Amino acid sequence: VQTNGSSDSFIRIPEIKFTKLFINGEFVDSISGKTFETIDPRTGEVIARVAEGDNEDIDLAVKAARHAFDHGPWPRLSGSERRRIMMKFADLIDENTEELAALDTLDAGKLLGWGKTMDIPLSAELLRYYAGAADKIHGETLKMSRELQGYTLREPVGVVGHITPWNFPSNVFFMKVSPALAAGCTMVVKPAEQTPLSALYNAYLAKQAGIPDGVINVVTGFGPTAGAAICSHMDIDQVSFTGSTEVGRLVMQAAATSNLKAVSLELGGKSPLIIFDDADVETAADLALLGVLYNKGEVCAAGSRVFVQEGIYDEIVKKLAEKAKTWTVGDPFDPTIRQGPQVSKAQFEKILAYIEHGKIEGATLLTGGKSCCEKGYYIEPTVFTNVTDNMVIAREEIFGPVMSLMKFKTVDEVIKRANDTKYGLAAGIVTNNLNVANTVSRSIRAGIIWINCYFGLDKDCPFGGYKMSGFGRDLGMEALDKYLHVKAVVTPLYNSPW
Ligand code: NAD
Repeated sequence: VQTNGSSDSFIRIPEIKFTKLFINGEFVDSISGKTFETIDPRTGEVIARVAEGDNEDIDLAVKAARHAFDHGPWPRLSGSERRRIMMKFADLIDENTEELAALDTLDAGKLLGWGKTMDIPLSAELLRYYAGAADKIHGETLKMSRELQGYTLREPVGVVGHITPWNFPSNVFFMKVSPALAAGCTMVVKPAEQTPLSALYNAYLAKQAGIPDGVINVVTGFGPTAGAAICSHMDIDQVSFTGSTEVGRLVMQAAATSNLKAVSLELGGKSPLIIFDDADVETAADLALLGVLYNKGEVCAAGSRVFVQEGIYDEIVKKLAEKAKTWTVGDPFDPTIRQGPQVSKAQFEKILAYIEHGKIEGATLLTGGKSCCEKGYYIEPTVFTNVTDNMVIAREEIFGPVMSLMKFKTVDEVIKRANDTKYGLAAGIVTNNLNVANTVSRSIRAGIIWINCYFGLDKDCPFGGYKMSGFGRDLGMEALDKYLHVKAVVTPLYNSPW
């Protein structure tokens, strides 16, 4: 385990410039005047106090978004004009990469290096990808019957509420905001209370880019208050949510009992990674560790259930034990570190409780199993062997650096066991046998299957769940469709009886 120690030279703590709500193009205090603390997971210390939005603030933000939708320029601009402004926004994200990545490192404990090379560049690319679609949104001509002719229009759904989680604060923000902007929607974003800082900075950059006032509003605050107010608001047309399955259910309930707003949900997972006998041990072990340790396991698609075929099982166990030691844990600003702290005290304690549960249930601890570093929310990379399918650590989403390793014999058996979960977000397969890879890919009920890789994802690759991992897709052109209504326009033909 490496800690920051005395060499502080790599730490560039960003200045916290924006801590107020962003409504109708202005940074404002919350109506109640209340604020809340955002915490540095490296130390448990307060980074800043941020405005705490509630019902009334959400209402103001919705009014601004509604006005911008009904009367403002954004939905009425040509697609090419929207594209031009979004491209400018993307350039500003690029210019502010250092600052944005550092804010997410500070707030979420994410590795600065990955933020700078992956999260923030992908955020800018998401804007560019959907900007490129903004002038290609069109309907179809319909043949209909002999007496009728019709065509379809694709129109923005209206005011959208985006509720985002803390594990990828920038990426999820842009996964939702970019296609909604391209479609011509206006929006209210509620970032997770653990990671509000980059969303406010993004709001500032949106204004600099020329996004008109009221189009993007950011209300920081808590889920049961500000988040719930979005879900039950009568003037929001759609809500796009990423977070836990439990809260996803509340989002749907609130939508159903308010105005029946459309809902899309990206929820939790307990994804299987399946390693077959013919796999290269070295590669398979690396993929298994990446699958569960990337972003300290705080990834909805984490490959947290690793199934290994019996012929290769012992070798994989040995390799995992060796390689887990190379996952250095420590300050996420340090470029030599591979795993930062868990996002919050609550998450840290939840993960440690699951680890204790695994021990009590009789799983064998191969590596890790406890917290580390003097302060902050650090946990050792943890691998359990001898896990059985019905253990809690094999069934529930831990959302931390904890792998459950299981042995299997046949293809049919592993398909059945991999599918024996309420979730269906992702799965990984490691094999060189094409027939096995194809058969398993078709048989696993999940939104994305990675063959001989894990976390292969990009802006054009639809991402979302089956079963209780949710419905609707982020990324790809599927995400743009979410923010568009299809309207049919029909006219009679000459001499028709209509
Ligand atoms: P969470 O569900 O508690 O919070 C997510 C967001 O919902 C936050 O902004 C929060 O403030 C808000 N929220 C909380 N209660 C709410 C309510 N009653 N009404 C409306 N909004 C509310 O989840 P979390 O603990 O922040 O994140 C971890 C979970 O999110 C994990 O289970 C993980 O699998 C899931 N997740 C899924 C994806 C995906 O793409 N499928 C991505 C990231 C995280």
